[in-house]
Amino acid sequence: MTTVSVTVDVEPDCPPYLWSWRGLEEGMPLLLDLLDGAGISGTFFTTGESARRYPAVVRRIVEGGHELACHGMTHRAFTDLSLQEAREEVALSSEILRDHAPVDSFRAPYLRFPDRYLPLLEEYGFRVDSSRGLYKPAHWRPSAPTALTRIPASMTSSVLRLSPALRDPVLRALHSPVVLFVHPWEFVDLRDTDLRWDCRWGTGPHALASLASTIDLFRRRGDVFRTVREVALHA
Ligand SMILES: [Zn+2]
Repeated sequence: MTTVSVTVDVEPDCPPYLWSWRGLEEGMPLLLDLLDGAGISGTFFTTGESARRYPAVVRRIVEGGHELACHGMTHRAFTDLSLQEAREEVALSSEILRDHAPVDSFRAPYLRFPDRYLPLLEEYGFRVDSSRGLYKPAHWRPSAPTALTRIPASMTSSVLRLSPALRDPVLRALHSPVVLFVHPWEFVDLRDTDLRWDCRWGTGPHALASLASTIDLFRRRGDVFRTVREVALHA
């Protein structure tokens, strides 16, 4: 049986190219309507800064039965941070998020998290790390010993926006647990901006329809949708 997690990185628009918040304001309501309508609990890796600016969005995530998870404080790459800066990112974001709900799962911005900082996550009470991507070279390096359950993302988010003819064979070949990820800004039409192509191509209504048809593909196959916390419990 295949388990599928829909994960969402809740952050400013297409970092580090834009730092606006249209995703939180325009994209999130559409995404939450879609997941709630499909009866799927997602996992929302949220930056502390997003939670501080948009507490009502975080309340809706929690009240909808989704998992609230941590995506650092400011969306800076942990690979660029000193130990003290990394500690501040983890400490401040987890404090802000835990005002809303228990938070067990962590994902680093850009899926870049040096193993030397794993003890910080343990110290701040995290149980799950989703900072690796199966499609990134770092995933295939040996992992440092850690008490955390590591649940990597299965593929990069823009794959979901491909045409079904290209996308579906890729989706069907993924192994369980399938960890999909999307960003709220993908559901805002950014096609007329001069962003990097993968930040604007297929955004807006197309991205929303793509996520809906992706969910349908797995559901028709009889797969089970779980939050990242639930996947870790069953691992
Ligand atoms: Zn991110």
